Amino acid sequence: MAKWNPWHGCHKLSAGCRNCYVYRIDERHGRDSSVVRRTQDFTLPVRRKRDGSYKIPAGETVYTCFSSDFFVEEADDWRPEAWKMIRERNDLHFFFITKRIDRFRIGLPEDWGEGYENVTVCCTVENQERADYRLPIYRETLIRHKAIICEPLLEVLDLSPYLGPWVEGLIAGGESGPDARPCRYEWILQLREQCVAAGVSFRFKQTGARFIKDGRLYRIPRHHQHTQARKAGLDRK
Ligand code: SF4
Repeated sequence: MAKWNPWHGCHKLSAGCRNCYVYRIDERHGRDSSVVRRTQDFTLPVRRKRDGSYKIPAGETVYTCFSSDFFVEEADDWRPEAWKMIRERNDLHFFFITKRIDRFRIGLPEDWGEGYENVTVCCTVENQERADYRLPIYRETLIRHKAIICEPLLEVLDLSPYLGPWVEGLIAGGESGPDARPCRYEWILQLREQCVAAGVSFRFKQTGARFIKDGRLYRIPRHHQHTQARKAGLDRK
């Protein structure tokens, strides 16, 4: 998987942002995460090597904008150029996650139509209130590949009114970091049941740093959070 970070920095928007890892990492380096700036990698997808071939080889999935939000307000002027590069590299698959699906149309290319085949846009929902706001917008937005991300999962969610064939999958997980809020196993199980009923694929990606199962709180080190989730055996295609 390749990574492309066209801009860096973001401002906090909703409950899921409280312990944002971008802020956590920037703080260690004395940087202000709330200042959004274009990075030196802005043109990475269209950069070429000396032999003329692209630096990112065809066929890669490109994890995009992982230290910001692609639809953050400060990037409105840069986004059209980013879309142009995404269109040019239709031999790559761009994957990004947003909490700002309500800003999706700002700067969208005219030829977007029903969506570019090479783009997956994932919508994050962390609590019921954000799910009830974002998912009706997301469901109606023309995007070819969609997935719901419930991470950090902060409470029990009922997504059954929204799930259906329009979404390719749901990924759930807890919160990491020293101040992580706990995630409960039963919340994960309930989301899985809703996905099974709706025929949506489900992945339990990671437990988070504080995980409650059978009434007991487990503190799980970062390097075990993914493996512990996998061991639960809850994933379904
Ligand atoms: S939207 Fe994402 S990147 Fe921006 S502050 Fe929230 S968690 Fe961090």
